[in-house]
Amino acid sequence: MEEATVAHVLVFPCPLQGHVGSMLKLAELLALHHLHVTFLNTECIHNRLTRFGAIEALLECYPTLHFKTISDCYNEGQHPGSRDNSMGDITLSTTLHAKPLLRQILVSENPGTPKVSCIIQDGIFGSLAIDLASELGIRIPIIHFRASSACCFWPYFWIPKLFECKELPIRDEDMDRMIRNMPGMENLLRCRDLPSFCRPSSQGNMSMDWVALQTKQSLEADALILNTFEELDGPILSQIRLHFPKLYTIGPLHHHLNVTKATGILSLRTVFFQVDRSCMAWLDAQPQGSVIYVSFGSSTIVKREELMEFWHGLVSSKKRFLWVMRHDLVAGKGNDDRIPAEVEEGTKEKGFIVEWAPQEEVLAHKATGGFLTHSGWNSTLESLVAGVPMICWPYFADQQVNNRFVSEVWKLGLDMKDVCDRHVVENMVNDLTDHRKEEFLRSTQEMGMLAHSVSPGGSSYSSLHDLVQYIKSASQENK
Ligand code: UDP
Repeated sequence: MEEATVAHVLVFPCPLQGHVGSMLKLAELLALHHLHVTFLNTECIHNRLTRFGAIEALLECYPTLHFKTISDCYNEGQHPGSRDNSMGDITLSTTLHAKPLLRQILVSENPGTPKVSCIIQDGIFGSLAIDLASELGIRIPIIHFRASSACCFWPYFWIPKLFECKELPIRDEDMDRMIRNMPGMENLLRCRDLPSFCRPSSQGNMSMDWVALQTKQSLEADALILNTFEELDGPILSQIRLHFPKLYTIGPLHHHLNVTKATGILSLRTVFFQVDRSCMAWLDAQPQGSVIYVSFGSSTIVKREELMEFWHGLVSSKKRFLWVMRHDLVAGKGNDDRIPAEVEEGTKEKGFIVEWAPQEEVLAHKATGGFLTHSGWNSTLESLVAGVPMICWPYFADQQVNNRFVSEVWKLGLDMKDVCDRHVVENMVNDLTDHRKEEFLRSTQEMGMLAHSVSPGGSSYSSLHDLVQYIKSASQENK
């Protein structure tokens, strides 16, 4: 008979696709280990997950997984990943709205449900849970989860030191200057490869100081979880461990879940956009390794001129392409929204466009031979696991660093950062799929093997086991 659990974990993500998706996968893994899990979401995201994800199926699958919602100030047409909402606004507003319900959840007694004995909070909320627990006089483990990469968490943490040794601030003319004083990453990142918030004109209103502060606040948490694995990020993780000794690396989370459940790809469950599966039949009809998959994730905005450069480049490369074009991908409304005839023809002949794809499945499809990506951390991990080489065109936050690691450290693709030119697009697509194809095939296959860290005996598998034991024993102590 299954052992009765007193462990009850509250999981609270920032309401953005990449964050909710990875934290929901973590919640599933915890539920698979028989922990009681409450997943706290904003109403808007919960409604989208109900419509486009698979909340019903999740509830059926995991009797110990429950959802609770907080009200939010977004409506359906204005989801928190949309261009009108910056990360800073989203985080601030979610934190404010969450506090009353969090207080109530932490003190309430429900027959049949153990009291919350651990909080796993998105690290982006800073000291939220720590402050609340101390205000209520509750002593339970508070764990921070960062949805971004380890290779970006470390620069975030190191920002104050970069100021001390005069590597920051960056001036416009510094972009190719090498950063020398970052342990574990000496002479690896150019200024342009630092997190976007370090740039003189960074996107949105998340300031560098704010990111550095939030990251520092994770020092107060009892533990830190990162969606990576030892074999990928070993040297950086050694540096991070010097400051965060209780560090759990349990990624790639999507792969961990798929392997644990052994029921194939589950990506549909955690998306909050309507998935268009028509592209799968189109992919089935394409030759092996012939398609470039193009997606810039859930919140990247491109200018119309940039869109046209990509489009021309893809069409001129003569390669087949599958492009995710969200309805809010393009900034503003231009005076001239017409698609040039040659581009339209080229797309009909070689391309396929959807508003949202079943990405994990697309990347795993034998027809997919390359990924033109914004280097979001989830997309990077998904491509890495599927063994698909990347062309990286980062937009913001950790994406600049991820891009640098993909091209320079892991050798899994090409760097198109800060350039948007049709000839460059065409050349890189052809380099990836023709001229340097063998080289990338080798490196992506080798890396794909390392991601077996999630199988029994692997580093991420053991780390998840340790995390579950830690939560269980802390819950027993606080009983
Ligand atoms: N995604 C998807 N279909 C799409 C585009 C993206 O399912 O058409 C998923 C993708 O698999 C990934 C997530 O959305 O899990 C995007 O997360 P990422 O961290 O890559 O980027 P973000 O959206 O946070 O910028």
